[in-house]
Amino acid sequence: MSDPQVITRFAPSPTGFLHIGGARTALFNWAFARHFGGKFLLRIEDTDRARSTQEAIDAILSGMDWLGLNADDAPVFQHANADRHISVAEQLLQDGKAYKCTCTAEEVDAMREKARAENRTPRYDGTCRDKTAADFNEGDDEGDDYVIRFKAPQSGETIIADAIQGDVTFANDQFDDLILLRSNGSPTYMLSVVVDDHDMGVTHVIRGDDHLTNAGRQAQIYAALGWDIPQFAHMSLIHGSDGAKLSKRHGALGIEAYRDMGYLPQAMRNYLARLGWSHGDEEIFTDVQLIEWFSLDAVGKAPARFDTEKLDFVNAQHLNMSDDEALLGDVLALDPELAAHQAQVLRAMGKLKERATRLGDIVADCAFLKAKRPITIDEKLLKHLNDDNLPHLAALRAQLQTLEDWSTEAVEALIKGYMEAEGLKMGKFAPAFRAALVGSSQSPGIFEVFSLLGRDEVLARLADQIG
Ligand code: GLU
Repeated sequence: MSDPQVITRFAPSPTGFLHIGGARTALFNWAFARHFGGKFLLRIEDTDRARSTQEAIDAILSGMDWLGLNADDAPVFQHANADRHISVAEQLLQDGKAYKCTCTAEEVDAMREKARAENRTPRYDGTCRDKTAADFNEGDDEGDDYVIRFKAPQSGETIIADAIQGDVTFANDQFDDLILLRSNGSPTYMLSVVVDDHDMGVTHVIRGDDHLTNAGRQAQIYAALGWDIPQFAHMSLIHGSDGAKLSKRHGALGIEAYRDMGYLPQAMRNYLARLGWSHGDEEIFTDVQLIEWFSLDAVGKAPARFDTEKLDFVNAQHLNMSDDEALLGDVLALDPELAAHQAQVLRAMGKLKERATRLGDIVADCAFLKAKRPITIDEKLLKHLNDDNLPHLAALRAQLQTLEDWSTEAVEALIKGYMEAEGLKMGKFAPAFRAALVGSSQSPGIFEVFSLLGRDEVLARLADQIG
């Protein structure tokens, strides 16, 4: 299926890190656009100058980059479009679809208080709505003394045909006349988002359902401007394992924290896609499959639950599916010191990745490679280097020294042969090897240890213990 007209966007406010919810929103917009061969755009909504930070912008950009969700055009910075937003507000004013309001903040607060006291929805009461130019006192509508408010329809209904939530109906009398331009002349989010989505040609607005009510208000602004309304699709928010909305309390972190914990970006995409979307019973899939299968019809209305165990499961599967050389690159990025042993790590990667849940497990499994001889041995393992075992280690070392083929299989055959001849059990003897070669119980299988260390280092580490 291809529709190059499809344009989606991810529009984060740079007031904090790229969190799990934002990353999922970005992913759904990306997958939807890719499915149709359309465009996926990024807009940084930095109109709130006081709360927007460069640090947050950097975190969003690097998070998107790590997740592999590349936008098709350079990011749009909303603040840079302020002049355009202002001119649209002025157009609405000229067309009688917006009006100047000179009510002070105190007056508006008082209206809200009064409404609350009378059990009505607190809202702006429309005092300035029908004022004509003649009603303004000299100077009232000059300088900083007024805001521009949208003249919202006061009766009837606004219906959003939402691709996920279905038809959502808002009674127009529940919306007051929102501010389009503040008294300092700066445009508000509600105006900027409509103008930018229109100007960027956005066809589908896919975002969290915390914006559902905004969609009702935005639809009214589109209508007043005579512009086509994009297809809205509001996703239910992600919840934590206790069923409450996901928050820092659940340990929800910025996306870069998941990178640092050793999750693969492709596993993250797979996992995030399953937070609210499904394709039959498919749990593990590639990007190609996600893009082929993705549709808004298959996004559920029920809030999805974030579950670290499931994420671990998905990550382990993707680790296992990954190319060994690519994983080596990821492992070295996490622990550059392993570069000195990369040939061995690569040789053992097939086994290492089978055991691992996160990249850090591979790093931990390889940590013993970096130890300097004579290696430090955990107290608990020292007892295995006793008078019973040491002569066997010495005899085995002598045999290993003559071994020409140092493959895992050949080493295994030699050791097993020796054990059998001596009537020794591997389960009882392996800890002695582990003590002498690794020094701790965190390591891959004992035969992988031989292959990872390589002949010279194995013989040397054994010699250190035999004395
Ligand atoms: N900037 C808004 C936010 O971060 C999103 C606006 C939108 O997607 O329309 O919540």
